[in-house]
Amino acid sequence: MKIMIRPLLLSMFVLLAAGLQQCSYSQNSSKPSKVAMDSKKDNNPVYSRKDTSRVNLTDEQWKKVLPADVYYIARQKGTERPWTSKFEKFEEVGTYYCAACGNPLFKSNTKFDSGCGWPSFYEPISKGSIIYTPDNSVGMQRTETQCGRCKAHLGHVFEDGPPPTGLRYCINGVVLDFEKAKEAERKFNSKEE
Ligand SMILES: [Zn+2]
Repeated sequence: MKIMIRPLLLSMFVLLAAGLQQCSYSQNSSKPSKVAMDSKKDNNPVYSRKDTSRVNLTDEQWKKVLPADVYYIARQKGTERPWTSKFEKFEEVGTYYCAACGNPLFKSNTKFDSGCGWPSFYEPISKGSIIYTPDNSVGMQRTETQCGRCKAHLGHVFEDGPPPTGLRYCINGVVLDFEKAKEAERKFNSKEE
């Protein structure tokens, strides 16, 4: 029996050691790709917060440059589950951009707590920043909102918002990027008001 067990234990040890070695190799090699995944804009050549020219990519091209969750909402008109967005209860001062192309969409001072479960605004940053399209899907008459630069699906706009516009832009947080206002800008804006 002893003679049989020893070679078996030895071979198990060799296998285990080889396995550990493989594991540490794969950990090392996975490090650079993890860093690349965190900065999701690296892959997206059309993303710009300054370039206002229209973006026209095919669905195949979008699929390559967008994270899966952004692609699902922006290009397949998906809807995130309510109360899941980090922007739903979010009160930082700054600007919201399209997560697909970087187009400025909303200022934080037009954001309000609608209680509907999605980030809500009463006014876009400019007239051209959003495109409006009738949406008669799912047995409802609604107005779809799309990004004015890349036509990403953002959400819908309803006429039950607060003054001064009376509008409620109900937007999927997944397709929003946020940038905090600089201290100087904040002071300038408060003086202006
Ligand atoms: Zn866009």
